[in-house]
Amino acid sequence: MVWEAVVILLLFGPPGCGKGTQATALADKFRIPAISTGEMFRAECKAGTELGMKACSIMQSGGLVGDDIVNGIVASRIARPDCRNGFLLDGYPRTVPQAQNFGLLLEERGLPEPVVIHLDVRDSVLVARLTSRRQCPKCLKIYNLQSQPPRIAGYCDDDGSGLLTREDDQESVIRDRLHAYSQLTGPILDWYGPKRVWTVDGAQAPDEVARAIEQAVIEATGKPSVPVTFR
Ligand SMILES: [Zn+2]
Repeated sequence: MVWEAVVILLLFGPPGCGKGTQATALADKFRIPAISTGEMFRAECKAGTELGMKACSIMQSGGLVGDDIVNGIVASRIARPDCRNGFLLDGYPRTVPQAQNFGLLLEERGLPEPVVIHLDVRDSVLVARLTSRRQCPKCLKIYNLQSQPPRIAGYCDDDGSGLLTREDDQESVIRDRLHAYSQLTGPILDWYGPKRVWTVDGAQAPDEVARAIEQAVIEATGKPSVPVTFR
């Protein structure tokens, strides 16, 4: 038996919360594509569609792509056959109007409401995780002093170069990113409201986080018509 309900997942979480890992695991589990807005935009640009070309030229000039274009690209992406069992979106909606539009889009297509997952991790934990990153200046390999340390402290396993902290991983830069994230995402989570947002403690081990999310999905989508066994 496999999962048979259509699952539409929206994944929110701050930088460093492990969202990418969870997105991949969830996609696998529910047999749905994990769609990040970045990839979706690049694909659309490459395909040379009208929306893609517009988005491309705006991004190349360093501008922010407007809601209409983003909504259009999402609409065309989720109409593809690989989304028939549902899909996971990472990085969308980014604004309340986008969230409103997305609700209408799902309604139009006769799809269920999205399951909104908020991977919550305290700032101090994120700062500790993210400031633990080191990079080899020569081969660019990334290490993490907490989770993936080099064999010899401070030096690259492959070429022995001294490891450096990237500019992006300085504490002040990370705190700014975390602040920007909560400014952006807070209003969206508020708009969905506490009844529709499933907050999962992202500080647990990755497989515990995955289990908690699965549980939330099962509860949120109601009892499925067939017994569920995850493979
Ligand atoms: Zn190296």
